[in-house]
Amino acid sequence: MGSGEAGLVEKSTLPRIGVLAIQGDYAAHAEALAEAGAEPVEVRKPEELAGLDGLILPGGESTTMLKFLEKQGFFKLLEEFCSHKPVFGTCAGAILLAREVRHPAQRSLGALDAVVERNAYGRQIDSTILTEPTQLEGGPLEMVFIRAPRIVEAGPHVQVLAQRDGAPVLVKQGTLMAATFHPELSADRRVHKLFVETVKCALS
Ligand code: GLN
Repeated sequence: MGSGEAGLVEKSTLPRIGVLAIQGDYAAHAEALAEAGAEPVEVRKPEELAGLDGLILPGGESTTMLKFLEKQGFFKLLEEFCSHKPVFGTCAGAILLAREVRHPAQRSLGALDAVVERNAYGRQIDSTILTEPTQLEGGPLEMVFIRAPRIVEAGPHVQVLAQRDGAPVLVKQGTLMAATFHPELSADRRVHKLFVETVKCALS
C-alpha cells in the first residue's frame, strides 16, 4: 500500500466533529481539532448536524448565536444533539450549554447542569491570560479569558477539571464539556485532545 492510500484510510477513521460556524472563533477550533486527531466540519445549517460524532460550540457572543439559532429552527435540533452526542462549549458556547444563564438571564440549551453568569470578570479590558493548575495530565494549563462567564453553580455530576479563584473554568459532565476560557487560542492541545477522546469513547 502506498503512503497516499494509508493517509486516506487513516482520515476516514477520524471522528467527525462539527464546529458551529455562525460567528466567533470557529476557525481556531477547527485547526485545534485537526491537531488533536479529529476531522473538523464547519456547521452553519441544522441539517449539517447529521452524521457528526460530536460538536464544539465556540466562543463569540452568545446573544448573537442564540438569535441565529432561534431563527433557523436550529435550537431544537441542537437540544436533541446535546442529549445523545458529545458537545464542548467554550466561553459563549459554555453559556449556551448551561442549565441557567444570569446577568442577564437568557435562553440556553440546558444540557450542562450548571448556572453561568455572563461577563462576570469585568469588561473587555479585563480579559486576561492565566496559567492555572488542572486535573489534566501534564501540569498547569494556559487559559485565555475574554469577557468570560463564571460558573457560579455546578451540579453533583459535573467534574471540575480546573478553577480560577475557586470557580470552575473547565468542567466535564458525561460526554459534555465546557470551558469558560478559550483553549483554541493556546498552543496546548490537551483540552481538545480530551474532547476528541470523549468523542471516540462515545463511538466505541
Ligand atoms: N461575553 C460573551 C457572552 O456573553 C462571551 C465571550 C466569549 O465567548 N469570549 O456571550
